[in-house]
Amino acid sequence: MKLSIIVPLYNEEDVIEKFYKEISKTLENKKYELLFINDGSKDDSLNILKHIHENDKECVKIISFSRNFGKEAAIYAGLKASSGKYTVIIDADLQQNPKYILEMEEILDKESEYDEVCMFQKQTKKRKKQTIFYKLISKITKIDFVNGASDFRMFRRYVVDAILEMTEVNRFSKGIFSWIGFNVKYIPYVPEERKGGETKWKFKDLVRYGINGIIGFSTSPLKISTYLGVFTSFIAFGYLMFLLIKTLVTGVDVPGYASTICCVLILGGIQLLCTGILGEYVSKTYVETKKRPIYLTKEKIGFDENIL
Ligand code: UDP
Ligand code: MG
Repeated sequence: MKLSIIVPLYNEEDVIEKFYKEISKTLENKKYELLFINDGSKDDSLNILKHIHENDKECVKIISFSRNFGKEAAIYAGLKASSGKYTVIIDADLQQNPKYILEMEEILDKESEYDEVCMFQKQTKKRKKQTIFYKLISKITKIDFVNGASDFRMFRRYVVDAILEMTEVNRFSKGIFSWIGFNVKYIPYVPEERKGGETKWKFKDLVRYGINGIIGFSTSPLKISTYLGVFTSFIAFGYLMFLLIKTLVTGVDVPGYASTICCVLILGGIQLLCTGILGEYVSKTYVETKKRPIYLTKEKIGFDENIL
């Protein structure tokens, strides 16, 4: 098998059929496997997938999770099940045009120095917020996050094996893809409108995603408490000296109520912030040490064991 295509999907009943038609038309006459990872959809997605599989047993395979584990887990399951020389990840909503798969395949065929091809979204005005986010996260984690780089990527086999070696439960794909290194060719593309259904990302998910990314790939936030501690100690020492001299020069003064309260509140705030940061790391460590599986499969359709 030359090409494995991984499609993570969650509640995409409106668009699966369209996606399947489009991708089979684009890849006509090619040998490929289409791995749908049903990430615990609550709508009719699985039945539609089963129907597609009935009509195209040769190409279509389905892994269905016991519940929603998230796109990152779905990607992991797909990579694990893939067997192609090249493996590509694509969204089910047709925002990523399947025609680029051919382009990526050609690059890996012709340019042997590249191990991976990644489609990235060119910078637009709308992406300003994301740009700031990526700059920040690159600085904190010291990993080079290419701005606008998507999960729409094609890997050679050994790159897939490298990703599979990263078995953490708290998966931040963008971080994992940069962390493993390898020689990546970035190709610009323009994402299209969703062809049905709606996005699964709310603002609060994005914030959580960002925090998880930073915590998963950097320990520098932990140093904040050290820096803040040193900083406040210096200020406190300076203030102490000031009070000492003032008392010696002008005599004993009635201590100020307002300044005392301010100090208590500021220090209390700093301590809670630092405990909070520590808590984030401890909770992640707690979850990771349990070594729970990244996903649980309920059904596998189209794999060899079904045929035997
Ligand atoms: N997805 C998934 N599990 C989730 C959320 C999303 O498998 O918990 C899939 C979704 O079905 C789609 C892809 O991930 O195929 C990208 O999701 P979406 O289009 O909502 O993200 P966006 O394109 O808005 O970033
Ligand atoms: Mg989308």
